[in-house]
Amino acid sequence: MNTYDKGLMWFRRDLRTEDNAALYHALKSCRQVWCVFVFDTDILDGLLERGLRADRRVEFIHRSLAELDQRLRAMGLAERIQDVGLIVRHGRARDIIADLAQVLAVQAVFANHDDEPAAHARDAHVLGALAHQGIMFHGYKDHVIFERREVLTQAGHPFGVFTPYKNAWLKTLDPAFHLKPYPVDRYAASLAPLKAPWNVPLPSLQALGFETTNLSQLKIPTGAQGALQLFEDFGERIDRYHETRDFPAVKGPSYLSVHLRFGTISVRQVASVAYAMHVQGMQGASTWLSELIWRDFYHQILANYPHVVDQAFKPEYDQIKFEHGKHAKTLFAAWCEGRTGYPLVDAAMAQINQTGYMHNRLRMVVASFLVKDLGIDWRWGEQYFADHLIDFDVAANNGGWQWASSSGCDAQPYFRIFNPVTQSERFDPSGKFIRRYLPQLAKMPDVAIHAPWKARALDMAEGGLTLGKDYPAPIVDHAEARERTLLRYAVVKKPASQTATRKAAT
Ligand code: FAD
Repeated sequence: MNTYDKGLMWFRRDLRTEDNAALYHALKSCRQVWCVFVFDTDILDGLLERGLRADRRVEFIHRSLAELDQRLRAMGLAERIQDVGLIVRHGRARDIIADLAQVLAVQAVFANHDDEPAAHARDAHVLGALAHQGIMFHGYKDHVIFERREVLTQAGHPFGVFTPYKNAWLKTLDPAFHLKPYPVDRYAASLAPLKAPWNVPLPSLQALGFETTNLSQLKIPTGAQGALQLFEDFGERIDRYHETRDFPAVKGPSYLSVHLRFGTISVRQVASVAYAMHVQGMQGASTWLSELIWRDFYHQILANYPHVVDQAFKPEYDQIKFEHGKHAKTLFAAWCEGRTGYPLVDAAMAQINQTGYMHNRLRMVVASFLVKDLGIDWRWGEQYFADHLIDFDVAANNGGWQWASSSGCDAQPYFRIFNPVTQSERFDPSGKFIRRYLPQLAKMPDVAIHAPWKARALDMAEGGLTLGKDYPAPIVDHAEARERTLLRYAVVKKPASQTATRKAAT
């Protein structure tokens, strides 16, 4: 006996049919379910205004939707239901969902939670419009293993420090329950056929106002099939993850971030594999599981302390005076374009600019360099990453930037300042990664590639390099910059008794 006659499944950051919480509940509780995705102009217009017409994320979503549509059709056919598929709309999601729900005469809309503040505002609007029409809205946890206030301190507060959070996370986890997949296929018979005017092909990227990017050349696999392919590939090397993950020239990490971001793979699926290996004592899997727990950690920080989107987690850090004016803009442009004169930083920026991905170690190095060597407000870097990362996610990006600028929860102390040259020597010792992204340095000997301005004339000649012509001289002196940063951060040095903390949002 179904709870509802008709329902609408609204896909957002969960572009898959397998193990999808909201889709499972929709199909299980309704006799007939339509599925919709909205290319939301409230988001896309912002990209276009910032000149991001060739946006890899839009193309990634577009391709993943084509696969999702096929998958829904196949599920329908297996149940002998013709013309099942995905309704794809282009416009303001906050208006479209309620309109569509009314036109289709559904009694309930189903979606998975999205805890970004902008998504909360959108959902509140949709919920209000649906309630006005007497239509229910059901939301589910799907994007993380534990969300919101599910893992709390003994005093009942959200955690602000990772290690105790991780311990509590592991203690709370009941794998048979929290990692259990939702058997969506079991209820596929509830998929509703699409009739005119809904049975139309996916709009082209161009019709959405976007252009094709270099996603194909980069061979970034899309959709649930692509995610599975990457996960299987990672399975071959997960046992070495703890040793390889810090070296950008090595194929160490999973490269699954974009898939976890858009939900083309279920986090329960990957966490259950990692957890099973973790309990068998496999170090690589344990370290990887920790990264998934960091992901949950930052998501609960964003859900409980939404002020972090534009303010420091630790309020005293908002007193810091960063560089401003023309000088700051010049330094920032050099960072964005990979012209700082520090090879590892410049190679990392070339990686994000050319591919939309950046290795985790390098994200830490370039973020630290921007804030603590160039003295630029972390929010500028955060926005640049938001515009260019294919895996951009508010929670993880904000967490990463506030970590690097020391303003965040459990961040690195303000006086710990990465040395971009020693980071380079340690994590790219033979300069393999640098050479890949900075071909002008390809012939430099290993010893000289990390700091060309210190190279002997002989090494420069061997590398065929003239500083200032083929490659820039460093735009700052690291030792001097370090001193300036310690002075800049002096405002946050105060007795612990005076250190304020903001209360979690309720
Ligand atoms: P793996 O090493 O294979 O890790 C597995 C998964 O764990 C990742 O896919 C990701 O979902 C999660 N993860 C790993 N590290 C972290 C972390 N530190 N915080 C949260 N989740 C993590 N990650 C994003 O997904 N989106 C972002 O916008 C983002 N911005 C960042 C900005 C800065 C300044 C920093 C320092 C880190 C940022 N990260 C972000 C975290 C991390 O760098 C990426 O998740 C990781 O590099 C993605 O590569 P991977 O999938 O191969 O990771």
